Amino acid sequence: MIGSAIACFLARDHGARVTVLERDPTFSRASSSLSASSIRQQFSTPVNIALSQASLEFLRRAHEELAVSDERPALGLVETGYLYLAGPAGAHTLRELHAVQTANGADVRLLDPAGLQRRWPWLRSDGIALGSWGARGEGWFDGPALHAALRRKARACGVRFDTADVRGWETFGTRVVAAVGSDGRRWSADHFVLAAGAWSAPLAAQLGLALPVCAKKRDVFVLESPALLPGCPLIIEPNGVWLRPEGITGPQGPAGRPPEGARPPSERPRGGLFLAGAPPRGEDPDEPPLETIDHGLFEQVIWPTLAQRIPAFEALRVRSAWAGYYEMNTFDHNGVVGDMPGIDNASIACGFSGHGMQHAPALGQALARWIATRRWGEIDLTPLAPQRIARGQRLVERNVI
Ligand SMILES: Cc1cc2nc3c(=O)[nH]c(=O)nc-3n(C[C@H](O)[C@H](O)[C@H](O)COP(=O)(O)OP(=O)(O)OC[C@H]3O[C@@H](n4cnc5c(N)ncnc54)[C@H](O)[C@@H]3O)c2cc1C
Repeated sequence: MIGSAIACFLARDHGARVTVLERDPTFSRASSSLSASSIRQQFSTPVNIALSQASLEFLRRAHEELAVSDERPALGLVETGYLYLAGPAGAHTLRELHAVQTANGADVRLLDPAGLQRRWPWLRSDGIALGSWGARGEGWFDGPALHAALRRKARACGVRFDTADVRGWETFGTRVVAAVGSDGRRWSADHFVLAAGAWSAPLAAQLGLALPVCAKKRDVFVLESPALLPGCPLIIEPNGVWLRPEGITGPQGPAGRPPEGARPPSERPRGGLFLAGAPPRGEDPDEPPLETIDHGLFEQVIWPTLAQRIPAFEALRVRSAWAGYYEMNTFDHNGVVGDMPGIDNASIACGFSGHGMQHAPALGQALARWIATRRWGEIDLTPLAPQRIARGQRLVERNVI
């Protein structure tokens, strides 16, 4: 997603000739294929809030921005918000973050238990002291559709996609001369961008950057329930369990806006599908196999948490599950974006720690502009520069799900 976005905007907005090297054109292990594709404004760092705001605007206009002839992508953007819940111990943090978010233009509202109950009568507020809800500009979208639309638009603007497993770089002094594939093929260029997600570290190391990014597995469970939860937002429990509807789950109540392309009430299914997940139990090893789902996580953590919060979930079953890697930046849980230190003609964009999908449109445009013009546009991504790692200057994102 990140690589495709940068390539698309380099070609579309700046007329650059771009080649994307991707080792797996099926994207079977790419984080972008295995994501929950949700977007929020509720971050702790202003640069992330700005990226979300600009990306959200882009998603709303994607049918125009990414149109190719008559083909206009439909991204199914649903904006029913994120709802962070906190017990008495976490309420202070929610208030602190709310102050940062509203100061940066996000429409985030704090709700006490009575307010929560009024807005979502199906939600039990036992043990909850405070909720923080993004009233506008938060929700979810069809991630694979956005990825496909970015690639289609990129191709239409002349971007070439080659299948290649990049093993290293050919350098001359402080310049990269070529990217080198495992089969010995070389791709020379004026400028190079490293956007290999969770697998970026070995390629960054070859250019002298010790990148603290690794692959942390996250399981996603697809749940089926006849429960109708009008206006259901993406809910984050104090213990990190999260839940969101997948597709249309029933009539949207006064709390929510109807999703784009919502079917008339007579055609809507009763109840529907939900996605849920939680932080891993115990050790969080690097790059464990994606095939091993921790079903105990659902039975022992997710299910009890959801059943307690949403009594209508009594009838609930797991339909399927998958896992993907967060490209976790263990230094400060934020993206690493900008000029590669000590190299004249290379940039990097990775390490988004579970929020790269939603930021891809704004980040792609911003970095493309920087590469092409050496000027940041609306969003200055200097705070995400890789130089902060060697300096030990953390830009910690506190809201990592
Ligand atoms: C379960 C889960 C839920 C998530 N939910 C959300 C969410 O709700 N909202 C959100 O914003 N983000 C979410 N994320 C995070 C988001 O998916 C990632 O931040 C984003 O997809 C990262 O995009 P990327 O392009 O950097 O990485 P990827 O999509 O992993 O792409 C990297 C690509 O590089 C290729 N590659 C790697 N090494 C090489 C090489 N040596 N040569 C050639 N190609 C190579 C890979 O094959 C891959 O296709 C979630 C992630 C997971 C796993």
